[in-house]
Amino acid sequence: MLVMKFGGTSVGSPEKLEIVASLVSEVTDDRIVVLSAMSGVTNYLYEMADKIEQGADVLEATLPILEKFEKTIFALAIGQDEKEKLWLNVKSRILAINEWVNEPNKKQVRQKIITFGETLSCLIVVGILINRGENVRYIPAINFMRLDSNGEPDYFYIQERIQDEIAKSSNDIIITEGFVCKTYDGLIGNLERGGSDYTASIIGRCLMASEVQIWTDIDGMHNNDPRFVEKTFPIENLSFEEAAELAYFGAKVLHPTCILPVQLVNVPVRIKNTGDPLAKGTLISHKTQGNGIKAVAAKDGIHILKIKSFRMLMAYGFVEKVFSVFSKYQVPIDVITTSEVSISVTIDNLENTDELIDELSDLGEVSLTSGHSLICVVGNFIADSHGHANKIFSSLKNVPLRMISYGSSDHNVTLLIDTVHKNEALNALNLVCFEEASLIC
Ligand code: ADP
Ligand code: ASP
Ligand code: MG
Repeated sequence: MLVMKFGGTSVGSPEKLEIVASLVSEVTDDRIVVLSAMSGVTNYLYEMADKIEQGADVLEATLPILEKFEKTIFALAIGQDEKEKLWLNVKSRILAINEWVNEPNKKQVRQKIITFGETLSCLIVVGILINRGENVRYIPAINFMRLDSNGEPDYFYIQERIQDEIAKSSNDIIITEGFVCKTYDGLIGNLERGGSDYTASIIGRCLMASEVQIWTDIDGMHNNDPRFVEKTFPIENLSFEEAAELAYFGAKVLHPTCILPVQLVNVPVRIKNTGDPLAKGTLISHKTQGNGIKAVAAKDGIHILKIKSFRMLMAYGFVEKVFSVFSKYQVPIDVITTSEVSISVTIDNLENTDELIDELSDLGEVSLTSGHSLICVVGNFIADSHGHANKIFSSLKNVPLRMISYGSSDHNVTLLIDTVHKNEALNALNLVCFEEASLIC
């Protein structure tokens, strides 16, 4: 079984929806196709949910969605009758919002609205594929995708339910929604923004897929962030660990949660470009290839908490006390640096930190600064290789560094800078670690 996930940009227009249908049709393996909402639709649905909560007229709020989907469907290259039929189905689903919006559980209404975009993509792609004579079936994600009471995928349930669903009839192609799930108490929930990648990898794990393909608008995981750096290039192979680091530290092409489920069962992930299907893309597997610096990513919105002990040198137990406070308030830490008398940590969320800071203040002098970015340099930095740190630091000679973390893993160097210097840092790293390096070769 192959899992093919198409992101919002891949299903963003009638032409792209047709391309997705073609890519799905061309494959001969059994496949389960995970779809995101058309790009921009989920953002609109969040706005729409806000408007409705604030008392806006529901029909008026749904009008832009009605218009967008009518236009999309009538621009598809399928017969007029099929368009009419598909539009009737989609229109009635959109208009049904007017009824279920009145249900008393307002949180559920919100969840139903924001997850609705993926269902619309599924209905359209199924419509196109049926029109092409494909043996295709839509299985709503809520029939199998469920979180447990810790908010983690309920793998046992998902595996059983998805296998049952698939077994109900024999189809070459199954289509389902990304992002959508049920919570442990049976309500509609979601897997967080960008979470369709997570859906694909959870399914890939439960079905022990031959591969999970993430189809997007770029030809793989690039060596640097293409939104800020011009001369980036796709990386052919990455290990699960390397890909997870890059995704966690800002490489938006993959959702940070989507590596672990497949890594545990060794199902490879391939990032492919919907606009250039012949491009190799990136294969993510258990294999680590090549030495040295492979890629750079950046994550914004980082805060530094510095705790300076009241007691001076040779005091023991300070680190333990500090971390037990973080553990008590369940505040996750990304990077840690220590000196004899102080500890600096980074956090990416200030929610519920007032009490944490109060309690830390009993242990030492606490300072909090914001507006930082983490720069993560990923590669294969085996202990006896050398020169990598020199390259990194020499490229950043004009950028003030707030924190440095090196050595805790063989494949990651993390630096903390002020966000105002991010662009400069990413470009400087690109120049020294990739562009000049390739000229020397
Ligand atoms: P999708 O709609 O397919 O989920 P996303 O917008 O989530 O697509 O991810 C694709 C985007 O990720 C690319 O267009 C690119 O701008 C951005 N991106 C950020 N960092 C990287 C990187 N290291 N490699 C590739 N793309 C990246
Ligand atoms: N549609 C959702 C979002 O925009 C999920 C996804 O696309 O992965 O966040
Ligand atoms: Mg995405």
